[in-house]
Amino acid sequence: MQNTMTQEELFKKLVAHCKEYGFIFPSSEIYDGLGAVYDYGQNGVELKNNIKRYWWDSMVRLHENIVGLDSAIFMHPRTWEASGHVGAFNDPLIDNKDSKKRYRADVLIEEWLAKQDEKIEKEVEKARKRFGETFDEAKYRETSPRVAETAARRDEMHKRFVEAQNSGDLGELRQIIVDCEIVCPISGTRNWTEVRQFNLMFSTQMGSTAEGANTIYLRPETAQGIFVNFENVQRSTRMRVPFGIGQIGKSFRNEITPGNFTFRLREFEQMELEFFCKPGTDLEWFAYWKDFCKNWLLSLGMNEEHLHLRDHSPEELCFYSKATTDFEYDFAFGRGELWGIADRTDYDLSQHAKESGKPLDYTDPVTGERYVPYVVEPSLGADRVVLAFLTDAYDEEVVDKEKNDVRVVLRLHPALAPYKCAVLPLQKGLADKADEIYAKMRKKFSATYDLTGSIGKRYRRQDEIGTPYCVTVDFQTVEDGTVTVRDRDTMEQIRVSVDEAIAYIEGKIEL
Ligand code: ATP
Repeated sequence: MQNTMTQEELFKKLVAHCKEYGFIFPSSEIYDGLGAVYDYGQNGVELKNNIKRYWWDSMVRLHENIVGLDSAIFMHPRTWEASGHVGAFNDPLIDNKDSKKRYRADVLIEEWLAKQDEKIEKEVEKARKRFGETFDEAKYRETSPRVAETAARRDEMHKRFVEAQNSGDLGELRQIIVDCEIVCPISGTRNWTEVRQFNLMFSTQMGSTAEGANTIYLRPETAQGIFVNFENVQRSTRMRVPFGIGQIGKSFRNEITPGNFTFRLREFEQMELEFFCKPGTDLEWFAYWKDFCKNWLLSLGMNEEHLHLRDHSPEELCFYSKATTDFEYDFAFGRGELWGIADRTDYDLSQHAKESGKPLDYTDPVTGERYVPYVVEPSLGADRVVLAFLTDAYDEEVVDKEKNDVRVVLRLHPALAPYKCAVLPLQKGLADKADEIYAKMRKKFSATYDLTGSIGKRYRRQDEIGTPYCVTVDFQTVEDGTVTVRDRDTMEQIRVSVDEAIAYIEGKIEL
C-alpha cells in the first residue's frame, strides 16, 4: 500500500533523506553552507557515477561513430566572445525597492503567464462541475467571457514577452511587469527598479600578478570545449561525418535565482554530446536523438508520466536553431527542464572559424563535398537527472497499517543503485563465511556488508539507500553453500547458491 503525501511533503522529505543517508550534503555545511553548491556523499557519488557511466556507455561506447573528450574548464577568453556568452549570456534582473529582493524579470513574467493558465483551467473545471454531463468544453472555452478575457490578456502579454526577449528590450520587460500588475511576493508592492542585465559567467584572473593578468572564465557549459577541438578530433580519428563527440564535466553559472535543491546550482555537471552531420540531414538526426534520449531515461526506470517533451515554438527558438525540444520533468517542486536537445545548425563552428580565423569546414574524403557540419546537441545536467531519478524512486510503503509500520524505500533501478547487494550474516558466528561471499560479490559489482542489528532493521537500512538485493548468510549456507536473496521491492526471498545469486544480480543490473 502506498502512503499518500503532497508534492511539498515529498520534496521536504527527499531533501532530508538525501542528507540523512549520505546522498547529498550542503557544501561546507559547518560554515553554514554555500548558496546553490552541494556535495555528493558516499551513496550520492555512487548513484551519480552510475548515471554518468551509463550515459558514457550508451552514447560513446555503444556508438561506433562517437568518441569522448575531456577538455579543460579554463578556455581562451575569446572562446566566450565567439560563443556569444560574453555578449548574451545574461539574465534580466529586477529588484523590488521595498523588500530589496532580486528577481529574474523573465521568471516573474513566466510565473504570471502560468497563473493565467491555471485561472482558465479552474474556470473550466468549475463549469464542468456545474453543467455535468452536458458540458461542452470546447464551446465553453470559446464563449465564456471570463475565460476569453483572461486568455486574450495572457496571449497579448505572452506575445509582448517573446518579442521583448528576442529584441533584448529591457524597458519593455519592465513595462510588462508593470502592466501585468506583478507584485513582489515578499513586500507585496509594485515598487520595481529598472531591469538590468547580469552576466552569468564566473570570472577569475590567470597569472600570478594582478597587473597584466588576463580575465578568464569558468566555463558555463562543456560544449565549447568540443567545438574548439572539432578539427583535432576529426583529423586524429579520421572519422567521416556524421560523427559525435561526448563529454562529461563541470560547468559554472552565477545563477541569480538558484534553488530547488540541486535543480539550479552554481557549480554543476553536464553530459553533452555534439553530433556533427551534413546540412540537410540534421532534422533526421534531431529526431533520432530525441527518441534515443527518451528511451535512455525510460530504460533506467523513469516514470513516463513525469516526463514531457516540449518542442519550442518558432518564436521561442534561438535565432540559429532549427529545432529545439526541452525534456521537462515533474520535479516535486514543479516542472523543469531536464535535458535540452537542439539542432544548432553550423552556428558554433562558424562562429569559432570567424573568431579564430581558422576554417572549421570539413571535406568528405569520398564525395569531396566541402561544408561546415551542422550539429545536434543533446545536453543533460547530471545533477538534475540524479534529482529526477531520486524523486521517482522515493517511496513510503505502508507495510502494516495497524502497527503504523511504514518503510521508506528508494526504488532506484538496480543499475543505478549505489550498492547492488548487501551481504548480511544472520549471526556473528557466520561472519567468516559472509566475508568470503562479500569478497566474491565485490569483484563483480558494488556490494556492502552489515552485521549489526536485527535482520529486519538491516533490510530497512538497505531499502532506505535503494539496495535492490539483500543476501542473507545463515547456518544452511555453511552446510550447503546456499543463501537467501531478498528483493527490495517485493520483499520476497529465494534460496539459491552463491554463484546463482551473483548471476541473478548481474542479470538485473545489465541494461
Ligand atoms: P534553465 O532554463 O533551467 O536555466 P538552460 O536552458 O540554461 O536551463 P542549458 O544551457 O540548455 O540550460 O543547459 C543544458 C542542461 O544543463 C540543462 O538542461 C540542465 O539539465 C543543465 N543545467 C543548466 N543550468 C544548470 C544549473 N544551474 N544547475 C544544474 N543544472 C543545470
